Amino acid sequence: MVRIQGIAVAPGLALGPVHVVRARADVVPSWVVRDDEVEAECARLADAVARVTDQLAQHQDSARRLAGEKDASIFAVHGMILQDPGAQTELAKAIRGARRNAESAVHALVGRLKHTMSGLEGDSVRAYAADVSEPWNAVLDELMQRDREVMASTDECVVIAAAELTPQVVTFLDRRRILAIVAESGGRFSHGAVLARSFGIPCVIGVPNLLARLEQNLSVLVDGDNGAIDLKPDEATQSDFVDRRRRREVARAALAEHAAAPAITPDGRAVLVQVNLESVRDLDVFDPSHTDGVGLLRTEFLYMERREFPSEDEQLRLYRRVIEAMKGLPVTIRTLDIGGDKQLPYFQTPKETNPALGWRGIRVTLEWAELLRVQLRAILRASAFGEVRVLLPMISTLEDIQAVRTVFEDTRAKLVAKGHDIAHEIAVGAMIEVPSTLWILDELLESVDFISVGTNDLIQYLLAVDRDNVLVSDRYDPYNPAVVRALGVIARAAARSGKPVGICGELAGDEAMALFLLGLGFDSLSAAPHFVGELRQAIRRTTLVDAQELARKVEAARTPGAVRALLGHAQDLLHRRCIEAASVGRTSGS
Ligand code: PEP
Ligand code: MG
Repeated sequence: MVRIQGIAVAPGLALGPVHVVRARADVVPSWVVRDDEVEAECARLADAVARVTDQLAQHQDSARRLAGEKDASIFAVHGMILQDPGAQTELAKAIRGARRNAESAVHALVGRLKHTMSGLEGDSVRAYAADVSEPWNAVLDELMQRDREVMASTDECVVIAAAELTPQVVTFLDRRRILAIVAESGGRFSHGAVLARSFGIPCVIGVPNLLARLEQNLSVLVDGDNGAIDLKPDEATQSDFVDRRRRREVARAALAEHAAAPAITPDGRAVLVQVNLESVRDLDVFDPSHTDGVGLLRTEFLYMERREFPSEDEQLRLYRRVIEAMKGLPVTIRTLDIGGDKQLPYFQTPKETNPALGWRGIRVTLEWAELLRVQLRAILRASAFGEVRVLLPMISTLEDIQAVRTVFEDTRAKLVAKGHDIAHEIAVGAMIEVPSTLWILDELLESVDFISVGTNDLIQYLLAVDRDNVLVSDRYDPYNPAVVRALGVIARAAARSGKPVGICGELAGDEAMALFLLGLGFDSLSAAPHFVGELRQAIRRTTLVDAQELARKVEAARTPGAVRALLGHAQDLLHRRCIEAASVGRTSGS
């Protein structure tokens, strides 16, 4: 047995055969094609080119509808690039002559195109190089997609191993078939990590050259609590695994006994504990009556599960399913937050050197206004079926909010004029995740109905630490005094305005942090469904007075170590109180 230490990203334990996903542009599989396989290999390539050509035509149609003919024409150009006779001859030579597999032939073509174009004079010509290779990269993805199709045709449960923890890796297979995920890189707060936690998939990252040490079907044990990966675990390790898993199940069952009890402190302060949802399938993994609603519906993942933009009616159906499943509890729908590491295969955005600081979230939807209008129409129509709130991502100026408000009111008026049944009151809120908003909180709070803090991004922007980059992941520290003090500033501004303040970043799932947030005056916490029971229990076992005392000390702490020590101590006390309460319950027979 070999034990490898990585970074724990999503809790839980799993044991099973590994499936290595090699879908990364620079790890293209390469093999020699036998004489009798050449025709099949050429056909495989032709098939992939045909499929990408079809997809491009669909993207062109969607883009034409959303942004007009000019923006859509790029897809027609991409289609022509795939038909280029020079490229076709080069690929045929590589497969028929050099006996290379289709993936490696296309990969070589992409490399050659990039090299040729980069030798040309002028920035705009060089930028064009990316466009020329883009459709061939799509063919490469399509060829490698085969791996997923082959896997999808079996019902084996596996531990997924990948070069990078991306949202695509987490959705590689039906989630019930992914026992765990291990990856060489990715950030603890990247969207891949957010999804893994939300789906309850144990996950460990941060192991350079991991893939080179794995082979398909190797037995591995993943410990998402401690960040360890055991290759070929021995018998003692396996039986320890069985014990630990049983203990976890017992603890969860104990928690489930009080799952329906709301989060109210012993001295009477109520906090809403809500769920973050990424997919309508998440509705199967929790009981809505054990929550206070949906604090964040990340709609971009609904879009990601599809092959083209969902129409207004399709979006309405999805939102309606969530609203009806939540049985009268509020559902906070966030408008599309694509860009950065959340890319839609059918929405080609320009290549950016620094995507996290680039065209993302509200910046995209305000520019491609039809995208926003269609989504707002669907959300407004969904309001006929239950309480809906709209949340706006990546807000950095007051103008952003005013611009959305204008589209929102105009869309509502048109729908009402057409006779649609729309709720009178629909709260519109802003995510607080770009640091510039910290200095305009009072004005911003005047123009919205609520705010919700997105700590995943707020931390990355406040500390200048990329949430996806494993090289700096130790600097991505939620316990940095700058972060906890920023949370204090936000809570006090919300209190001055009398408007509700919530948190929907991953920090909300941390029990001790939840107590700190309670003390600061946060009204709601929204986290992956898995954490809701523990959070509700934590609040039921802590008085507001104690939480306020904790908040005062944490805000005054000067170093991350001091913050960590205070929260660690609070967590120990909390666990002791929970154990005492459980033993009192047992002896009194309740
Ligand atoms: C956040 O930034 O904290 C957040 C909730 O949004 P996302 O993780 O989707 O960027
Ligand atoms: Mg965010």
